[in-house]
Amino acid sequence: ETGEPPEPLRRVVGHNYDADNPNSDRINATLLSLVRNKELGQLVQSMQDLERTWNHKFNYPWTFINDEPFSEEFMRVTKANTAAACNYLLIPKEHWAIPSWINQDLMQESANILEEQDVQYAHMQSYHQMCRWNSGLFYKHPELLDTQYYWRVEPKVHFFCDVDYDVFRYMQDHNKTYGFTVNLYDSPQSIATLWPETIKFLAANNHLLAENNAMKWLTDKDRRPDHNHKANGYSTCHFWSNFEIADMNFWRSPAYEAYFEHLDRAGGFFYERWGDAPVHSIALGLFEDKSKIHWFKDIGYQHIPFFNCPNSAKCKGCIKGRFSDGESWLNKEDCRPNWFKYVG
Ligand code: GDP
Ligand code: MN
Repeated sequence: ETGEPPEPLRRVVGHNYDADNPNSDRINATLLSLVRNKELGQLVQSMQDLERTWNHKFNYPWTFINDEPFSEEFMRVTKANTAAACNYLLIPKEHWAIPSWINQDLMQESANILEEQDVQYAHMQSYHQMCRWNSGLFYKHPELLDTQYYWRVEPKVHFFCDVDYDVFRYMQDHNKTYGFTVNLYDSPQSIATLWPETIKFLAANNHLLAENNAMKWLTDKDRRPDHNHKANGYSTCHFWSNFEIADMNFWRSPAYEAYFEHLDRAGGFFYERWGDAPVHSIALGLFEDKSKIHWFKDIGYQHIPFFNCPNSAKCKGCIKGRFSDGESWLNKEDCRPNWFKYVG
């Protein structure tokens, strides 16, 4: 399944993807970018790459979302970089706020400990808020409730390869829930109690486990035993969520809702630094059929310092087969070998 590139079905030819056509062949989907006004330049760089390699053929709308209102400049410049429709959303205060049950003193103390353990962004409150929002809130924005698929786009990322088919339609036609490009190990210190909390949740909700789950990928300890040990049973393997092409209905399912609620109450978004990437990945690995998770090997992608760089004439600007732009020791951060081993 994942070994084959998707057939170039639904080419632009014969279909209508005009930006302003209300009856176009676009399906119910949006490009989605959580971003700050000050990141405009870096976002435009990401936009230009994605428009050039893909979206100018399909004109999927962009949705920009922020915890503060977007500036006039931000709206003007982003609109100038796409023919597609642009939507600008403000996050409801209650979706971004630190929940009432979080103890702020404990949060400060915890951040000191995390910092001593070299956890990045330990003291940056907004980063914790962002991870929580990306885990369990983004798809609850009132203006996204009718949207099904999204492609998450961050500032300062690169897209290298011409992609000639409608990837959202590919997801729909092949019954895929989640698409990724990069599969990585995480910093175990940032998620020390995430797996123990997950086990607690499972003990009371065992019926939610998918029959064809990816538990073995989540719990591997052969390749990096130390990671598994420090993360208390979790391999720390995760889909790198700065790139996601996914079906929001999975996040809206009762299983995921219950899981997120459990984690949110446990407090680890603030007392540790649980990322949305491990949270999403654990949920997918447990509650979804693993055949519904797709590796987009044909989408060349970089978020510093890691790449997905296909060996294809359609790709320009990345070194084929290369995984990182830093020292070769970074290659051990690649968890794709385990994904292929356990999932195929
Ligand atoms: P990193 O990739 O983990 O180093 O984190 P980033 O700084 O790239 O943040 C992840 C994503 O969340 C990016 O799309 C950022 O633009 C966005 N983001 C992070 N913090 C904030 C914030 O406080 N407000 C807004 N609006 N976006 C944020
Ligand atoms: Mn980033």
